[in-house]
Parts: sequence; structure tokens; C-alpha cells
Amino acid sequence: MTELLITGARLIGGDAGDLLIRDGVFVDPASAGSDVERIDADGLIALPGLVDTHCHLREPGREDAETIESGTRAAARGGYTAVLAMANVNPVTDTAEAVEHMKAVAAETASAAVHPVGAVTKGLAGEELAELGLMARAGVRLFSDDGKCVHDSLVMRRALEYVRAFDGVIAQHAQDPRLAGAGACCHEGEISGRLGLGGWPAVAESVIVARDVQLAEMTGSRYHVCHVSTAESIDVIRWAKARGINVTAEVTPHHLLLTTSAVEGYDPTFKVNPPLRPDEHVEALREALADGTIECVGTDHAPHAAHDKDHAFSDAAFGMLGLEASLAVVMDTMVAEGRLDWAGVAERMAYAPARIAGLTDQGRPLEVGEPANLVLVDPERRRTVDRAASLSKSRNNPYHGRDLPDPVRLTLWAGRTTFRDL
Ligand SMILES: [Zn+2]
Repeated sequence: MTELLITGARLIGGDAGDLLIRDGVFVDPASAGSDVERIDADGLIALPGLVDTHCHLREPGREDAETIESGTRAAARGGYTAVLAMANVNPVTDTAEAVEHMKAVAAETASAAVHPVGAVTKGLAGEELAELGLMARAGVRLFSDDGKCVHDSLVMRRALEYVRAFDGVIAQHAQDPRLAGAGACCHEGEISGRLGLGGWPAVAESVIVARDVQLAEMTGSRYHVCHVSTAESIDVIRWAKARGINVTAEVTPHHLLLTTSAVEGYDPTFKVNPPLRPDEHVEALREALADGTIECVGTDHAPHAAHDKDHAFSDAAFGMLGLEASLAVVMDTMVAEGRLDWAGVAERMAYAPARIAGLTDQGRPLEVGEPANLVLVDPERRRTVDRAASLSKSRNNPYHGRDLPDPVRLTLWAGRTTFRDL
């Protein structure tokens, strides 16, 4: 019987207490055996293991950029114990077999729970619904064509109607393909004109969100907005919530911290979809995450091999790494600013994402009888981010050279140590 006793951690940032883990579960600390392994966590904060609603693990198909093994090691280093893996792999996760395959690879190699996201449409083509029911039977609750928008209104309506039967969620990459089509790679405004880059107008996001929340209202279904990036989308989401529409939303760490100005040097590391936005949008996103209009953080971790990213800005692949620095960014943009306390971090990065994704064994309180998914956080330690030190296989790290918190000291997934730095 293996036991681990963690002493003196501030539980969710509150009072200090002890945690005893036995066989993957929190048990009564008073029952610790004499030969128990001990960790002195004085000064550290214990949070539930983080849950990511949105990442790209690239396996199967692009194992040169990331694998389930490397991506979940990066996740564990970031304090995550569960991730939702988007469907835009090759082959696309649009069948129950593809779901089972990803789970089988994860069972062998992963350092965090991997929950495949099912595609909404076959091949992400936006036309014919994928095997939503069969994928649901294989355990999928969240469906998304992420990377592409489900832009056909009738397809969106049918998808929302279909998943209602099993309490599924449609997660939308909100981007009107006519308003922000091929070539759109920079927030449309003064800067896109000055840099000569294709403009991606803010309204291309909010018009889709506005349409979708009305379809969600009509169908009575659950709808989730991926990587919200504009103040106008937030206005629509607030309106929808006030009407009782079942909508949830996520924001990425990079949209909380970085602004359009990062694009000035044409560094393709900062090319992301949706694009980085000006200050006023970033401020609106922080405010919405603080007040709960945006329930959770989703990393949109998007690793790319150098030969896909090292191009002129307009030709490079979209996306940036996110799993390792997500908590650090939330600490600097939200906790240090007094917008979230540690209980708020647990809510936005563990409880809410697990609820949205329908996970029952993640995002749980640190209490006796609960699965031991845990991250020990050092609230003081900082570092200069070095992209070479990443556990991801890719190096498209937008925080390279930046001073950020370096909080994660220990991650336990169901009692198993998946990252340790103490
Ligand atoms: Zn997306």
C-alpha cells in the first residue's frame, strides 16, 4: 500500500491542512501509517488538478509536432490532470473507433486523463453530421469542429438537436468564414492595415455566437464558445445568459495576456486563431472571466513543428503552446490583479471545465473519498520562460523570454505523481 502525506498546504488558498493519499484517493490524514512518504508543503497552495477544455495533442497524424505522451507531460507540468483533445487530428475523430483508438493510446502513454472531443461533422467538412450518437456511447460529451466553424445554420441546428438526447455540448470555433476567410490572420483594424496583414474582424466571431445562442435557445441545447476573444462576443453571451440560454464559454491564457502589439515584429509565433486583440478586448476578457460570464480557461494548446511555423507571418500555421504556462498567466493577469482568489482559480480552471465537459472524477473538492487529483502551487516562484525547456515536442512558445510565475511543484493524477519539482 503506497501512501503520501502532504502537510501544511493551504487548501484552495485557505487554511493550512494535511492531505493523505492512499490508492489514488484522499483518505483521513489521521490514519497515516508510520512509513508514509511525506511532503512538507508549507507555503504552498493545494488546488484540485486543473482541467483543460481545449487542447490539440496532434496524435494521430502529426506526431512530429506532439504526441499524447508529450502533450500530457506538458499538461502535467502545467498542473493539469485532465485534458479535452480536439478532433482535428488525422484521421479526424469523427467515429467511435477513432475515439476508442485515442483512448487506447492514452491508456498506454498519457500523464493525464485524455478525453477525446468528437467532431460535429464528418471530416470537419461542415456538411454531414458525424456519428454523434455512437461517439456519445463511447463516452464523448463535447463535440467540436474546432479549427473550423460549423458555419451552416441548419447543420448547427441539427447538431444541437441531436446532442440534447445525451446531454452533449456543441463547442463552437466561432468564425464566420466569409468575414474572416483565407488570409485573415491579424485583428482587423489600424494594425492590420499598417502591417499589410489580412484582417480578421471582431464581428466575425460575435455574429456566429449571436446566431448560435439563438439556436441553442430554440433547441434547448447546451452550447459552448471556444476561445472567446472579443468584447462583442461577451456582450452576446451576457445577453444569452440573462435569457436563461444554456451557454458557457472559455478564454485562452494568451488572449488574457497578449495583445495585437505582439504581432508588430511579424513573429509567426504570435499568429493564432482567433487573433490577438487590442487592449480593450483583453480588458473585457479579464472582466468576464472574473465575473463568471466566461466560466473557464481553455488553453487551445496548439503545438506546431518548426517547418510549419517558420514561415512569413501570413503563411505560417495558426497556434501557440499553452498547457505549461496557463496557470502562470492566470496568476499574473487575474490573481495578482485581485480579480480572482484561489477559490476562483479552482472554479475557473478545475471545477467549471469538468462540469462543462461532463467529467465526474475531475474538478472535485480536496476531500476525503475524492480522487486524488491535485496540484501544489508555489505562489512566489518565478522564472524567465525558455522555450527549449518545454516538455512539448514543439517550440512555438509565445512566452519565451518573458518573466512569469513558475508555480507548479507537484501534480498528482489519481494519486500518481505526473510532475514533481520539490
Ligand atoms: Zn479554435
